[in-house]
Amino acid sequence: MTPFTYSRATDPADALRLSGDNGAKFLGGGTNLVDLMRETIERPTVLVDVTGLDSTISATSDDGLRIGGATRNSALASNRRVRTDYPMLTRAIVAGASAQIRNMATVAGNLLQRTRCTYFYDDGSACNKRSPGQGCDAREGFHRYHAILGASETCIATHPSDMAVALAALDAVVHLKSSDGVRSLPVTELHRLPGERPDIETDLRPGELITAVELPALPLARNSTYRKVRDRSSYAFALISVAAALDVKDGKITDVRLALGGVAHRPWRARKAEAALIGRNATHANYLAAADTELAEAKPLPLNAFKVELARRTIAAVLSDLAARSSEARS
Ligand SMILES: Cc1cc2nc3c(=O)[nH]c(=O)nc-3n(C[C@H](O)[C@H](O)[C@H](O)COP(=O)(O)OP(=O)(O)OC[C@H]3O[C@@H](n4cnc5c(N)ncnc54)[C@H](O)[C@@H]3O)c2cc1C
Ligand code: SF4
Repeated sequence: MTPFTYSRATDPADALRLSGDNGAKFLGGGTNLVDLMRETIERPTVLVDVTGLDSTISATSDDGLRIGGATRNSALASNRRVRTDYPMLTRAIVAGASAQIRNMATVAGNLLQRTRCTYFYDDGSACNKRSPGQGCDAREGFHRYHAILGASETCIATHPSDMAVALAALDAVVHLKSSDGVRSLPVTELHRLPGERPDIETDLRPGELITAVELPALPLARNSTYRKVRDRSSYAFALISVAAALDVKDGKITDVRLALGGVAHRPWRARKAEAALIGRNATHANYLAAADTELAEAKPLPLNAFKVELARRTIAAVLSDLAARSSEARS
C-alpha cells in the first residue's frame, strides 16, 4: 500500500477541508476502496473517513425520502418506509454482497464502487480503465459478466452496484457538496458510459462529496421488485438484474419504471421499454416486445451473448409478477 494519512470528518465542511489535497479520497465502509488500495490500483495519500457524516433517513416535505450518504446499506434495506414504499430498493440491497459487507458499506460508497472486471484488478492485464491507452484484455478474454449495452471499443465493464439499479428506476437524485457549493444530479446521470475514457467513470467533480440521496414520492413503487440473476444464489454479482415498478388498470399498463443491472457501464434505465409499455395491454407478449425494443441496440460478445435472451425473459417474468400483484391489489 502507498503510505497515507487518515482523519475522520465531523461534518461535510470538515470533510472538504480535510480533503483539500489532490491525493485525497473519502472513505466510506472501505469495502471496495481498501481492497483497491491493497492492490495499489488506488493510491490516495490522504484518506478522509466520512462514516461519521449524515446517516439519517427522513421524510421530505413532499413525502419522498432523504437518505444521508453515510447510511449503511443494511440500515437502508431494513428501514420501514423503504420496505413498504420502495420494496425494490430493499430487495436490491439484500441481493448484494454479504450481511457483514452490507453492515459496513455506505450508500455513497456503494454508488461509487468500481467495476468488478477481473482484468481491472489484475495489473498484469491490459486495462484502459486502469491505464488509459493500454488496451482491454476483457474483449478477447473472459467476458461472461461484461456489458451488452452502451459499451465501447475501449471498455466493456459493467457497474456492479445492485442498489444503484433500483435508485435509477426510482428517479433518485444525488446531492453533492464541494468547495464550489452544492448541486444535485439525477442518479441516472451520475455514472458515465465508457466511450474513449473508461477511466472517467462519473460526472462528479474533483473532491465532490455525496451528502445524500433523495427518493421522490412514487406511489407506483409500492408495487415494485428487484430480481437478480447470478451464477450462485448468494454472494455473487449480477449476470443481469431487473428493477421494476408497475401499475395496471383495467388490463392496461398505466405507469412503469424499469432499470437493468449487469448490462452496462452504468445502471441502465430502460426508457425505450417503458415508452413501449405505457398504454399497452398487460400481456406477456407485450413485455417481451418492450424488452426487445430496449435490447435492439445490444452488442454482445461470444461469452455474454446469452445475456440478451436472459434479460428479455427476466424483464417479462418480473413484469408478469408485478401485473398479477397490481390486479390482486385492485380486486
Ligand atoms: C466480496 C464482495 C462481494 C460484493 N458483492 C456485491 C454485490 O453483489 N452487489 C453490490 O452492489 N455490491 C457488492 N459488493 C460491493 C460492496 O457493496 C461495495 O464494496 C460497497 O457498497 C462500497 O461501499 P463502501 O461504503 O464500503 O465504499 P468505500 O469502499 O469506502 O468507497 C468506495 C468509493 O466511494 C467513495 N466514497 C465513499 N463515500 C463517499 C462520499 N460520501 N462522497 C464521495 N465519495 C465517496 C470512495 O472514495 C471510493 O472511491 C461486494 C463487495 C465485496 C467485497
Ligand atoms: S473491460 Fe474495462 S475494466 Fe475490464 S479490462 Fe477492459 S478496459 Fe479494463
